[in-house]
Amino acid sequence: MPIKIVLRDDLYCPVFICDRCGGEIVNSSGNYEWDSSDFFGEIFFTHKWCSYILGARKPFKFRMSEELSKFCGNLQKNFEQSHDYDEGGNKQ
Ligand SMILES: [Zn+2]
Repeated sequence: MPIKIVLRDDLYCPVFICDRCGGEIVNSSGNYEWDSSDFFGEIFFTHKWCSYILGARKPFKFRMSEELSKFCGNLQKNFEQSHDYDEGGNKQ
């Protein structure tokens, strides 16, 4: 469960949780990772220092990773372009 909600100063804030150690990822200290051979595969969030350990535990075939600071922008871009694709991920 890599994204959780925490209450800070009376605000509900979404945060990323490391899939390896369970700690909150702050200050751009993380990655998001996936296996590019697994279409619709699971995504993992890690601290940079936990990434290697998680990679040793998961059977990634073609491991990919990106800076966590780019995640929200990439997700927003995908939402904006998603009308070009069907639910199976095929371009219409
Ligand atoms: Zn960690």
